[in-house]
Amino acid sequence: MTQRLRGRVAAITGGASGIGEATVRRFHTEGASVVIADIQAEAGRRLADELGDRAVFVRTDVSEEADVAALVDTAVDRFGQLDIMVNNAGIMGALGPIDATRMSDADLTIAVNLRGVICGMKHAARVMKPRRSGVIISTSSPAGVLGGIGPHIYSAVKAGIIGLSNSVAAELRQHGIRVNTIIPGSVVSPMTAGIVVDDAHNLAGAQEVLGRTALLGRPIQPADVAAGILYLASDDAAFVTGAVLPVDAGLTGASWPSPYTSGRYAK
Ligand code: NAD
Repeated sequence: MTQRLRGRVAAITGGASGIGEATVRRFHTEGASVVIADIQAEAGRRLADELGDRAVFVRTDVSEEADVAALVDTAVDRFGQLDIMVNNAGIMGALGPIDATRMSDADLTIAVNLRGVICGMKHAARVMKPRRSGVIISTSSPAGVLGGIGPHIYSAVKAGIIGLSNSVAAELRQHGIRVNTIIPGSVVSPMTAGIVVDDAHNLAGAQEVLGRTALLGRPIQPADVAAGILYLASDDAAFVTGAVLPVDAGLTGASWPSPYTSGRYAK
């Protein structure tokens, strides 16, 4: 590993599990100090203890503005600054047909997945603007780009994250702050396992199920997405802002092979 984030301070929401945890681990290995933010206190504390120096856990519900403000303030108090904010916490939320959607479930999905990202951007910008530097990365989904592959409200808010991110990128550019979006494909994580094998702890089962439809040889792992987030966070992406980076084995960009390219119609 290189030290691409040496001396940087990063806050990662949803950092106790899946893609967030992989990002915490990769950022830490790359030299960053990490603030792990999650509602899963036990898992978050365990991860911070395991990493030791340069890691702290802050119990954070991203739908509560006061929690997100305190998370950002902890990063500054503890490590002196905030260089990288990763708004990654998310839930599947409301499931089922649109006409059966419970509005309380819809409200919670919006509160965690979109309001939480707005809070993260707001409070990160508060401390990044005076320093005229920083990077904000938020986690969207293929469901925010394509219909028919995710729950309705989840799809709506994941599309919203892209619009929000691009809008905020346009404002914060003049303050030296980059704002980007990552789109993970179907990743072997507790969230996916909870859906495909009905057991968030059964990652081996999820690996097996996703392996049957893998678009690029093998199922995508959280570490694969963390590598994309690392790129956007690092100086390698110094001129990348307002961008959407899919780490989805071509799900959103490449669709499925066309019959016209199969050789069947070649003269
Ligand atoms: P995960 O369930 O493993 O991790 C999500 C984390 O967010 C958990 O630790 C959870 O405790 C935390 N969280 C939930 N509600 C929270 C709240 N209110 N405040 C703070 N933390 C909260 O899932 P994952 O697959 O790692 O998902 C991470 C992100 O990636 C999510 O935004 C998800 O929508 C997105 N995503 C995942 C996939 C996939 O295939 N797994 C695909 C596309 C996008």
